[in-house]
Amino acid sequence: MESKRNPLIIGAGPAGLTAALELVKRRVTPRIFEASAHVGGLARTPTEGDWRVDPGGHRFFTRSEEIADLWRSLLPEDQWLSVRRRSAMLVDGRYVRYPLVGRDLISQLGFRSGMRGLANFMWSRLRSRIRPTDELPSFRDWGTQQFGRHWYEIFFDGYVRKTWLADPGTLASDWANQRIKPISWRTPSEQGSSAEAVFRYPKYGPGQVWEAVAASLAGFGVVPSLNSYVASIRHVGGTWTIELQNGETASGDTVFSSMPLRLLIENLKPTPPKHIREIAASLKHRSVITVAVALNGHYDIPYNWVYTPGEEFRVGRIQNYGRWSSALAPENWNGTYLGLEYYTLPTDDLWVVSDESLGEIVEQDLRTLGAGDSAIDHCMFVRSQFAYPINDPAREQSVATIRDYLRRNHPSLHPMGRNGMHHYDNQDHAMLSALRSVAQYFGANVDPWQVNTDRDYLESGLITG
Ligand SMILES: Cc1cc2nc3c(=O)[nH]c(=O)nc-3n(C[C@H](O)[C@H](O)[C@H](O)COP(=O)(O)OP(=O)(O)OC[C@H]3O[C@@H](n4cnc5c(N)ncnc54)[C@H](O)[C@@H]3O)c2cc1C
Repeated sequence: MESKRNPLIIGAGPAGLTAALELVKRRVTPRIFEASAHVGGLARTPTEGDWRVDPGGHRFFTRSEEIADLWRSLLPEDQWLSVRRRSAMLVDGRYVRYPLVGRDLISQLGFRSGMRGLANFMWSRLRSRIRPTDELPSFRDWGTQQFGRHWYEIFFDGYVRKTWLADPGTLASDWANQRIKPISWRTPSEQGSSAEAVFRYPKYGPGQVWEAVAASLAGFGVVPSLNSYVASIRHVGGTWTIELQNGETASGDTVFSSMPLRLLIENLKPTPPKHIREIAASLKHRSVITVAVALNGHYDIPYNWVYTPGEEFRVGRIQNYGRWSSALAPENWNGTYLGLEYYTLPTDDLWVVSDESLGEIVEQDLRTLGAGDSAIDHCMFVRSQFAYPINDPAREQSVATIRDYLRRNHPSLHPMGRNGMHHYDNQDHAMLSALRSVAQYFGANVDPWQVNTDRDYLESGLITG
């Protein structure tokens, strides 16, 4: 191994572990510091006995061959499942396929609603052709333009309010093109089978991949220090020193950081100028609590994701784990295993309520779903605090200002990943930013901040992810 390089990595999520893997391939031994007791970050698989939880419903989908190859290399082929993507919106007790199919919209929600939706849709398409604009609209304007007011209000307005906890008029829409597919006027079968309709999924949930990476790194003597929250990052005379909450320190020639960008700036020494600290302090996150509920009864829900936009539900999205992998539940168990996702802000009451109080909300949602009568065999609560970097209209400029400050003053500090760059990235882009950051460390002329800036990259037809 090369000895003169001595990199430090903050975070053992997909970005941190990918950076470590790449460094090891280049014969450099990094040290990894992870705040929590596990590897995998948001893409971990919390486990109790034979019960496993995927906190987000992690589809392994990418348009990058580099990442697809890397994923394939991380687990043996028999540990990957091919899962058919089937999502629906649950509206007025009816499952409406998602991505939206025009003929469902006209036929499934009643004739009057269908005709109104169609008229609104055609009008908004016509108007956007007559008056095209280059300006990036708010999410509400984008949604109304894409779907027409009626369908936007039924499917997206309430959902986005519930999940992003903000008025859609105040949210930027740059992520929407990537995440939300337009209405299709042909059914999926008429469109032919598309690679996107099937995704890869590790048999034991997303954390299986990251545990495999950790095991492979251990073979090179790289073992993440768990429960090691990095409390300060100091740069003096070309040397970086990080200090853990327990007072221990470690020094190196560079830092790869996947900790939230806001906290990186808050804990950076020498202290950045006031305006940089103020901008960083304005970067916000949304949290998610995933409640995994194993119902003894068998409910036939033919989808892996069910979005619940209506006010009758407190939950925002329901994962149907049985459609992801039966190995998330104990062998031969035959009930219905669901993951209910509750979106909240770290400052909201919901974030701090006890499991017991949250359990009452879950029971109410299960009753609304029509599954209130079933006994519960097992229940797990998984809290992810920094789940979503919030995409307000100031985000892009704020992040660019911080990026430029860091580039000028600390070129050997490499923010990477979803929270590290405060960018709404999935695993593939978090991993690519890590690979580009390591390449930059070795002198390549690449810009990790350019990963996932293509507004037309259509990812998944998902609303969140
Ligand atoms: C609900 C939900 C659904 C999702 N669905 C998908 C999907 O379908 N497909 C997909 O590919 N991706 C999905 N994602 C996104 C995916 O989880 C992230 O893109 C990915 O985990 C980002 O990796 P990361 O390493 O950048 O960040 P993280 O996973 O957040 O890892 C960062 C790590 O850094 C640690 N850390 C933070 N601060 C410190 C500190 N001060 N000191 C030490 N350690 C620290 C954290 O504990 C964490 O382990 C989803 C995410 C959510 C929340």
